[in-house]
Amino acid sequence: RFATLTRQPDDPLLRIIGQHAADPRARKIDLGVGVFRDEEGRTPVMTAVKAAETRLLSEQSSKSYLGPEGDTGFVRALAKLVVGDAVASDRVVGLQTPGGTGALRLAAELMARAGVARIWIGSPSWANHAPLFRQAGVEPAMIPCFDLGTQTFDLDGFLTGLNAADSGDAVLLHGCCHNPIGIDPNAAGWSVIASHIAERGLLPVVDLAYQGLGDGFDEDAAGARTILSTVPEALLAYSCDKNFGLYRERTGALFAITPDRDSGATVFSNLLGLARANWSMPPDHGAAIVRIILEDEALTAQWRDELETMRRRLESLRAALAAGGRIGAIDLGAVAHGKGMFATLPLSPAQVEWLRDRHAIYMAGSGRINIAGFNLAAIATFHDALRDMVANAVV
Ligand code: PMP
Repeated sequence: RFATLTRQPDDPLLRIIGQHAADPRARKIDLGVGVFRDEEGRTPVMTAVKAAETRLLSEQSSKSYLGPEGDTGFVRALAKLVVGDAVASDRVVGLQTPGGTGALRLAAELMARAGVARIWIGSPSWANHAPLFRQAGVEPAMIPCFDLGTQTFDLDGFLTGLNAADSGDAVLLHGCCHNPIGIDPNAAGWSVIASHIAERGLLPVVDLAYQGLGDGFDEDAAGARTILSTVPEALLAYSCDKNFGLYRERTGALFAITPDRDSGATVFSNLLGLARANWSMPPDHGAAIVRIILEDEALTAQWRDELETMRRRLESLRAALAAGGRIGAIDLGAVAHGKGMFATLPLSPAQVEWLRDRHAIYMAGSGRINIAGFNLAAIATFHDALRDMVANAVV
């Protein structure tokens, strides 16, 4: 049977990681993979996470199975933190998932089961969104709505695109720190999107993977809360992998907002069945760490402090990058409009390749850069490399 399969292309970002690792040049800069880095280029385990891990190691008395819903203390604490009081608690159900990806996958399967045929996605989006929904049986429909030159989100274009949606279709929204653009709607934009969605009977699916890395922890949930408090039904896929630095522990949750407690119980029973058929139960370690942190005031304060330091680092690097101003056709100043780890520069694939070959600067072929891959010296190098690119008329 395997002979019927066709060979699939490598993930282009993984290829860039390999090329970067093999590059002997000392001044090489890695802006590719989407993980937070400190000034020395490390992705350290957060101190609060280490402390919770130590406690877990000494206090955990059993590794017996939990259940398809995972760690319910984790889910409860996270719901309080994320949804807050935007929605009455009897309208919220949730379960632990393997990362934000697992949450999105489960959301997609629930949608397919509920007869949702299509999901509208502002484009470009995280490269995994479209294939993930398509493979679960929900067809992605893309709405181009970003201008890279001015680094702006075209709200009117997005809403106009949504006019083609049928009632019952879904809409994907990046809760904050848009990947790969870094540009989010402002507060007024979120309100307009929320009413537009509610009026047309669309199902919002909020992907919140970077809470705390944009404007601040509660500020970054404001858009999601506006949506959740406006509509009768919604899904929220949450990742703890960036804001707790847990990446490989695969820590996330899926929340469903339902019209009432009874429909919530029905949705939850479907989610449990789908989770059971996918992974039976989610991996425990990351969720247990997050629960220990969130149930302990001192650890929570420590984690929030560390997260704020990470957020500030991103903010200052973004400002330093933007200070490069206009270089040829590229207005780096506009990058200051964005938030979080990513920006996508208006570079052609040929320019991206030239920067890699000539200056050992590695980024995705789309021009997406991970701002955490910089330090101040690397930003100066990057500005010089862009000037050199313009001087050499590379297009
Ligand atoms: N959504 C977005 C927008 C992301 O960027 C990512 C991670 N790159 C995810 C979801 C998935 O996160 P996780 O690693 O927790 O699966």
